[in-house]
Amino acid sequence: MSHVFRPLLSSLFAALPLLSTLAFVTPVQAAEPVSTIRLYAIDCGRIDVSDMAAFADTGEYDGKSGKVTAPCFLIRHPKGNLLWDTGLGDDLAKQKDGMTNGPFHLTLKKTLAAQLADIGIQPADINFVSFSHLHFDHTGNANSYAGATWLLSKAELDWANSTPTPFGVNPASYSSYKTAKMVSVDGDKDVFEDGSVKILAAPGHTPGHKVLVLKLKKSGTVILSGDLYHTMENRKLKRMPVFNTDRADTLASIDRIERIIKNTKARFVIQHAPESFDSMPKFPAYLE
Ligand SMILES: [Zn+2]
Repeated sequence: MSHVFRPLLSSLFAALPLLSTLAFVTPVQAAEPVSTIRLYAIDCGRIDVSDMAAFADTGEYDGKSGKVTAPCFLIRHPKGNLLWDTGLGDDLAKQKDGMTNGPFHLTLKKTLAAQLADIGIQPADINFVSFSHLHFDHTGNANSYAGATWLLSKAELDWANSTPTPFGVNPASYSSYKTAKMVSVDGDKDVFEDGSVKILAAPGHTPGHKVLVLKLKKSGTVILSGDLYHTMENRKLKRMPVFNTDRADTLASIDRIERIIKNTKARFVIQHAPESFDSMPKFPAYLE
């Protein structure tokens, strides 16, 4: 190496601490638009359940402990970004050991906002927000995306806002619907009007409960369950939670969605089942 480079190198090294400081404060590069649809599965919290009794109205879970995941999903489509479910809420990450509420112990390792920032997505980049339903573990970060268009079921909203507040609902967590741009989704909804991202009505867990059906180029049909089931066993044995709002509607929804899974040879993601969620590409990897 010639002597000419020496001063240059030493001045570069001298500048390194400054460079790393700059790198820290410089915003992450904005995400490029996508040409094909991507599905990101994002860990938005985990729940240890000391007694799973409420997850089967036929007694099989009485006194048994279990674990459930509380994911968020980002769907990047050439025409916009859709956030499906918003997890436990980013404030939880401030509590290192999590928090306990009844039989539930909730933890969150990394906020949704920080995970999205890792791939260059800011809250303002989310064009649509939708929820499988309005239980607290799906609405935790809803208000952070008040600038998006909210795809909401009126039946679900009427139920969630009823008095007394239904079990599992935290109305403050989704209060931004009052000012957000809203599109009512009461039956099925083809979000981008090209058949690739469809919200399907699957009531029973709650009155406006939905599942999300995606048609991906390489992975084929992928269906996100919402809370149609909470565990792998509940799917196999057609069990359902004590707190579902309508048992007969749930069975009819199971019948419809299972037929669609069969007919489209879909990959079915049970959002709350760790075995299912953890089998998805680990964020920031994605399905396409
Ligand atoms: Zn639920």
